[in-house]
Amino acid sequence: MEEREELRTDLDIGHFRRLLEEKRAAVLSREDEIRHQALEELAPEQVGEISSTRLHQADLASDTQEIDTLGALSEQNIRTLRKIDDALERIDNGIYGRCLSCNSPIEPLRLETVPETPLCQRCESLAEKDFNSELAARLPIE
Ligand SMILES: [Zn+2]
Repeated sequence: MEEREELRTDLDIGHFRRLLEEKRAAVLSREDEIRHQALEELAPEQVGEISSTRLHQADLASDTQEIDTLGALSEQNIRTLRKIDDALERIDNGIYGRCLSCNSPIEPLRLETVPETPLCQRCESLAEKDFNSELAARLPIE
């Protein structure tokens, strides 16, 4: 078993810090874009299937729904931002690149794709499975 505080010397930490900072900026500007779009109007492709009459009614009536959609998007972005900030903190603490759950080194390829991930591939799939079985447990038994 490797020591807990061991640094990932195989990783170019500066590279991953840049990746994280770039991703952070991208999420923030996407969030900005979404807000701008919402202020102007819904993107045409989102309302493509709605007839012009309904569209007119939707104009009057769908404000709440619009805000709901926005809220969901923003919440997802906020979650991503929080993960990115946590990852940057792990870089500062010298523990970046280790799985928070099992302490194994996270696969470099995985970090390249999802630099903010706190879990290795195996723990991530376990967590997903847990989440799914939790969901299943909450469903009424027929
Ligand atoms: Zn793990």
